[in-house]
Amino acid sequence: MFENRGSPFRKLVAGVNTQVPIKNGVMTPYINFDNAATTPPFISVVNRIVDFSQWYSSIHRGTGYKSKASSEIYDSSRNSVLDFVGGSPDKDCVIYVKNTTEAINKLSNMYKDIYGGGVILSTSMEHHSNDLPWRNKFRVDYIDINKAGRLNMDDLERKLSYYRKNVRLVTVTGASNVTGFKNPIYHIARMAHKYGAKILVDGAQLVPHSSIDMKPHCSPEHIDYLVFSAHKMYAPFGIGVLIGPKETFEKCPPDYKGGGTVDLVTHDYVKWAKLPDKEEAGTPNVMGVAALMESINILSSIGMEHVDEYERRLTEYAVNSLYNIPDIDLCCTAEKTLDKVSIIPFNIKGLHHSQTARILSDEAGIGVRSGCFCAHPYVQRLLNVSHKQMEERKKGNLKNYPGFVRVSFGMYNTFDEIDVLALMLKNIVSNKDRYIKEYPL
Ligand code: PLP
Repeated sequence: MFENRGSPFRKLVAGVNTQVPIKNGVMTPYINFDNAATTPPFISVVNRIVDFSQWYSSIHRGTGYKSKASSEIYDSSRNSVLDFVGGSPDKDCVIYVKNTTEAINKLSNMYKDIYGGGVILSTSMEHHSNDLPWRNKFRVDYIDINKAGRLNMDDLERKLSYYRKNVRLVTVTGASNVTGFKNPIYHIARMAHKYGAKILVDGAQLVPHSSIDMKPHCSPEHIDYLVFSAHKMYAPFGIGVLIGPKETFEKCPPDYKGGGTVDLVTHDYVKWAKLPDKEEAGTPNVMGVAALMESINILSSIGMEHVDEYERRLTEYAVNSLYNIPDIDLCCTAEKTLDKVSIIPFNIKGLHHSQTARILSDEAGIGVRSGCFCAHPYVQRLLNVSHKQMEERKKGNLKNYPGFVRVSFGMYNTFDEIDVLALMLKNIVSNKDRYIKEYPL
């Protein structure tokens, strides 16, 4: 399927030929290697938004033709979402939120309401969005990682066994936004269920790059909760998804209360609406849902296995290209790249990650990200940041903080773009002293 150096998917994506100014005043094609943060939209997603604007109207309580048409699009979308990730229309509920962060906060509020307390097992490789919402509500413990930066499955078993029936949830990223490592979510599900716990998969980095199947509720490998963001899957119009069992979502009052969440209100009485309305306070983001539907249609027609395969080839090519450049420290590439999504963290010896990122942008129009990627504890571990250094930082010394440069590919990136990156990195390494002077910290 992928014979040449171009991407078969490039024509689907907006902005791939945008020229940007670089330092010498020349205009150059922008290379976006920051897809783990957010992706550009599919062209057809933008077209869908424009077309739908002719029909857009208030949903649910409007009686006009357009309201009914908009309501139909919004309501029927939930089954398409479930179909995309193997959820169960009978047993699962799709709740629309802004993004993954809101989805996890929402679930943590529900869990607090339902269970009051208990233990949440998070991991040492989570994005802050799958760590901080659980703190101050539960006892949170973190499954350790091994030297390779992968989840330590023995530690998971140890902690499940230690806390016994008190573990409410094992909450784990499907793929890391720092290393790209995929976690063995079905194995984790089996273990969690064995100890009576549920599993939440943070799908922010997994769903856009791989196929995922939540599996039937009766399966020991069932994924109980799944969350993800449309802006990382070519539909950046403010929608996110929380999927979980209706049975659980029914058990608590809404965390956000207001219009849309009720069936009946008097000054001293409230009857909450049924799911999912109860959990979607205020005017819903119908445009965002229309965008997500279009994106799901496109990704499904391509097949996520093809997206996965193409991006894996890009990643392997990039790792090989960068591997032989002197002074480049690639993080976590000892293993085969097979079991990861298209993310590569690295550093150039002698340069701060922020300098490398600025040079790539200003000199070559290459957009990357640098720092700790909202996963401070994981990055601290990967870089062996000492306890003493962390204590210094807590006192406010945040200058020159440790971190990585991160390149992350989307399905529209090309091998030629990776060549441009490799060439520019060789140039930086060869002219390091000059660049250090030109780009002071
Ligand atoms: N989880 C992971 C693994 C992520 O990479 C991100 C964002 O980068 C998030 C959660 C938060 O996603 P959002 O910013 O869409 O809420």
